[in-house]
Amino acid sequence: MARTIFTNGRVFDGSEVRSGGTTVVVEDRRIVSVGKTDAKTTKADRVVDLGGRTLMPGMVQCHFHSGFGPDAGNASPYLGLNMPPAYLGMVAAKNAQLAIDVGVTSMIGSSNGDLLDVSLKEAILLGLTRGPRVVPCTREMVTSGDAADGDNRAWFMGVQNHGLIRRVDGVESIRQAVREEVGRGCEVVKLSISNGHGSMPIPDWNYFTKEEVEVAVDTAHNLGALVRAHCPSRSGILMAARAGVDLIDHADMIDEEGIEAVLAADATVVPSCLWSERFMTFAQSWDYANGPFPINDGFPRPQWQTAERLAQIQREYEYTASMLPRLVEAGVRCVLGDDYGFAMMPHGDYASEMAVYVKHGIEPIEVMRWATRNGAQAMGRHGTELGRIEAGLLADLVVVEGDPTVDVSVLHDPANVKLVLKDGAVQKDLLAS
Ligand SMILES: [Zn+2]
Repeated sequence: MARTIFTNGRVFDGSEVRSGGTTVVVEDRRIVSVGKTDAKTTKADRVVDLGGRTLMPGMVQCHFHSGFGPDAGNASPYLGLNMPPAYLGMVAAKNAQLAIDVGVTSMIGSSNGDLLDVSLKEAILLGLTRGPRVVPCTREMVTSGDAADGDNRAWFMGVQNHGLIRRVDGVESIRQAVREEVGRGCEVVKLSISNGHGSMPIPDWNYFTKEEVEVAVDTAHNLGALVRAHCPSRSGILMAARAGVDLIDHADMIDEEGIEAVLAADATVVPSCLWSERFMTFAQSWDYANGPFPINDGFPRPQWQTAERLAQIQREYEYTASMLPRLVEAGVRCVLGDDYGFAMMPHGDYASEMAVYVKHGIEPIEVMRWATRNGAQAMGRHGTELGRIEAGLLADLVVVEGDPTVDVSVLHDPANVKLVLKDGAVQKDLLAS
């Protein structure tokens, strides 16, 4: 049986860096041993001398919009979603390749139209394109009047059966929507519980009622699907965690009570601070005397950015960033993922998010845990054999030049990601002679 044997490197196992001399052996799909002793090799084996490089588990992107993009600088009001489904499918295939090439071997979808995630998952399994394992997401379920409601302003997001948005109101409507979309292959249900995040202030009210969130969770869990929710508001975080939502997106206004609720529910938090960080930097550089704020230019935005509104967004983001070390200290499971494909957020640029957390006081090795072990845990039943380097687990492995547990920026350059295995199969290989 052909094996791949990794020697002479630094091994980050998803939690800690193993002491020197650790040898990792892969056979077919799995890691078969992790230990000190050099494995005996045969001619058929591939021996990878890491030469001081780092071997780590494949990373998990936990907030992935596969159809957003392509990168349009700071002016992408349509998220690409104004294009036909066939075009969006190609965008998704390209995004999947960008992800696998920087060492992302799994992703959890965070809403898409046109069954893009389900189609992408199948296309990758069939070898039509390269990409991570996909936990496909539903359309974004919003109530009437949500900021993103398709009949509101952003018409392209909710065009009949194709857009990003699916409008749901009341428990029967939600139950039906969850059943339909899970029946079509989606494995995570996205709810838009409350408003705000990044470029918008965060009101402390919610679109969804408690009963509506509970029925979404009960229906999804009954069908084996996860639930995730856009909930920046303080009360939305409490409502989501107490109802059993699995992934809490953004969680901007989380406080001690929210932390307690998240821990009690064993929920995962996706802080997704890169968009907030990029937006604030951009906003500070904008000359308001020069006219309307250029992001989403072309849309009638009656209450679009003012200096007062921006000051509130800034205050709220400073609060969110200040809570990050507290989340870690309290033992909250945090993961990586953000709105890539949106303005100023090109897909593939995932290491920039990691740098934001380091900037706000999280140790690089902890951010690496978010990227690997925590991400796999957030995948629920899909991730039980992933996210760590341990005998018996699936061989999703990445070889990186340098040491990302000390300096996450080494992951920024795709040229530093030398080898990517998913399920034991080579996805990218810059080491082959
Ligand atoms: Zn999103």
